[in-house]
Amino acid sequence: MGSLSSGSTGSGAGPDAPQCSRRGCRAAARWRLRWNNPRIHPPGRRKEWLACGEHRSWLEAYLNERGLWRETLPLGADDGAGDGGDAHA
Ligand SMILES: [Zn+2]
Repeated sequence: MGSLSSGSTGSGAGPDAPQCSRRGCRAAARWRLRWNNPRIHPPGRRKEWLACGEHRSWLEAYLNERGLWRETLPLGADDGAGDGGDAHA
C-alpha cells in the first residue's frame, strides 16, 4: 500500500479520547512520542505517536533502535492536536 504521508491516524476512534499507538492497544494515551525519520522526513518535521503508560517505553525503544526518537512529552501539556508547524522559540 502506498503510505499517505500525512500523519492523521487512520484509526477512526472518537476524537475525544486519544489512544495508544501500539497496535492492538486501546488504552488512553498519556504520552506523545515525537520522532523523525531523516531518510524520509525533512529535518524539521515531527511525527507523533501516542502511548499509554504501559507502552511508552516499548515505543520509545522501538524508535530509539532505529534512530528515530526525538523526545517524549506528557500528553496534554500542550494540546495542539497538530502534526505540523510546532515552533516554540
Ligand atoms: Zn498501550
